[in-house]
Amino acid sequence: MIKAEQKPVDEILGFLDAYKRILLVGCNGCAAVCHAGGEREVAILAATLRMARKKLGQKLEILEETSPRQCEPEFVDALAGKTEDVEAILSIACGVGVQALAERFSEIPVYPGVNTMFMGKTVEPGVWVERCQACGNCVLHLTGGICPVTRCAKQLLNGPCGGSRDGVCEIDGETPCAWQAIYDRLKATGQLDRLELFVPAKRWGRESRDRGPRTIVRGDLKQ
Ligand code: SF4
Ligand code: SF4
Repeated sequence: MIKAEQKPVDEILGFLDAYKRILLVGCNGCAAVCHAGGEREVAILAATLRMARKKLGQKLEILEETSPRQCEPEFVDALAGKTEDVEAILSIACGVGVQALAERFSEIPVYPGVNTMFMGKTVEPGVWVERCQACGNCVLHLTGGICPVTRCAKQLLNGPCGGSRDGVCEIDGETPCAWQAIYDRLKATGQLDRLELFVPAKRWGRESRDRGPRTIVRGDLKQ
């Protein structure tokens, strides 16, 4: 899932300096799961912002909403009735949700209340780690299910680089070397022969971001 963390309150307050009535919108999808932008976080952030503005002697009216998923058009449309007389929208969904609101409510300034960090997994409560960079052409079948794009500091597709020491990456002396992990995993699963397969350089222009946003079109689902 997408992982995000809330921006510093002072930064958010700076966005809202000029406004007296805003709509704060959370998301019950990924942002809620990583405790950055669900219903609970909406309530806490709204209370924090109101208090901070009150201390400054400035009123801030905050309407609170939490969308089931801010990246889906039907749920964004459902917010239309909540925007009357609203001067700005603060979204604590991921960057996709923020942009979905900005596209739908083109006359209202929309601000991000969280920093979208990465796609990752939960290690333990309160700890998340990045696991995928959406490179557009997955190679996990060749690398024992361990992503070299995300977990190797040099994003080597045909590693290792030779700098690994005792299973640790040379970059910072504490992060596990992705290619050591790939080797160990392939060995454990009897697939070491996969290390002999050359993985061609990625065609980043087609598979990734160099040409602007990528699009998936499923003809069987499109109306
Ligand atoms: S190879 Fe690409 S798609 Fe697969 S996990 Fe890594 S970044 Fe994600
Ligand atoms: S030491 Fe390992 S993880 Fe670090 S850059 Fe080299 S191959 Fe990648």
